[in-house]
Amino acid sequence: MRKVKNLIVGCGLSGIVLAERLASRRGEEVLIIDRRNHIGGNIYDYKDKETGITVHQYGPHVFHTNDKKVWDYLSQFTEWHRFMYRVKAVIDGIEVNIPFNLDSLHKVFPKDMAEKLENKLIEKFGFNKKIPILELRQSKDKDLEFLAEYVYKKVFLGYTVKQWGVKPEDLDVSVSGRVPVYISRDNRYFQDTYQAIPQNGYTKMVENILKNPLIKVELDTDFKDIKNQIEYERLFFSGAIDEYFNYELGRLPYRSLDIEFRKHNCEYLQSGPQINFPENYDYTRSVEYKYYLDEKSNKTIVSYEYPCPYEEGKNERYYPIPDDDNQKLYNQYLNKAKELKNVYFIGRLGDYKYYNMDQTVASALELFEGVKK
Ligand code: UDP
Repeated sequence: MRKVKNLIVGCGLSGIVLAERLASRRGEEVLIIDRRNHIGGNIYDYKDKETGITVHQYGPHVFHTNDKKVWDYLSQFTEWHRFMYRVKAVIDGIEVNIPFNLDSLHKVFPKDMAEKLENKLIEKFGFNKKIPILELRQSKDKDLEFLAEYVYKKVFLGYTVKQWGVKPEDLDVSVSGRVPVYISRDNRYFQDTYQAIPQNGYTKMVENILKNPLIKVELDTDFKDIKNQIEYERLFFSGAIDEYFNYELGRLPYRSLDIEFRKHNCEYLQSGPQINFPENYDYTRSVEYKYYLDEKSNKTIVSYEYPCPYEEGKNERYYPIPDDDNQKLYNQYLNKAKELKNVYFIGRLGDYKYYNMDQTVASALELFEGVKK
């Protein structure tokens, strides 16, 4: 029987951070396994050979955080390309800023109407405030009610039905609340203090995190296939918690993406890095990667995301689906997990949480502090 001190299942962001801490802070050996053939989980990126453009294989990842601890931690492993993300959505055929803000308002409505709505928003909520669309929809004021219905329909409804298969109100408010209506002229997608992309790509950063010789990585290795041949003192599991328990309480649903990458024979195709299509086409958004690291080529690469349900063996899990029923089922699995000794569930799939990258790192760092010697 093979023996390891720490077994980590999944070579994504949560797994690698725990591995790095255990190796560098405790001097312990770590084995990370992953059933895919590459490191990094869904933050994996690669340079396209022909153009030299860095492409995110699992869709756009733009790092942003207010958490200095997380920023400083990752900064040990990468130089950063400082970059403030900008996203547009096509509404009635024109590109407007997302989050929908005062500039967007003035783009889509006639001047007098836009001014009236702007004044009402500031009066009711205050300048520089962020209002989730589902909250704005509760407005009693006739004009604000009109605005809320307009934004709900033009920005959120079609996009969310494509992305999740359900309407915004059928998901936890935090989902559409990630992109609130913003009573401001700040045209950035995020307002966080630190916003950047690893200068040499995420995969290079992951390689650096894994550099400690105490860390061993085995790819193309499924936990199911080796679990009876290996003994471990601790297990950190970043796969899906329902799969760990053989779905015995039922399946937790996830959304997946079918991402089409197209190479275009022009220097730039889009006006900016990301365009959302709430009401047109079958894809939700298109992302032009050369904008991310300001890479130069006479060609360009754009991805188109077609959301779909996760199906075992067919595609990958990308997103947990935050709603009450799923949370209840997850909690039942969590109760079973608590009965296990020295087994920790981590990451988006282990915690069934719609984590951003910084939250993933923060929760792995926090868990590490609590792991008994
Ligand atoms: N959303 C939307 N329209 C948009 C942008 C976002 O309806 O133009 C909603 C949609 O439900 C989406 C959620 O807000 O899934 C979160 O968006 P975010 O950009 O954070 O998604 P991610 O980048 O995590 O896929």
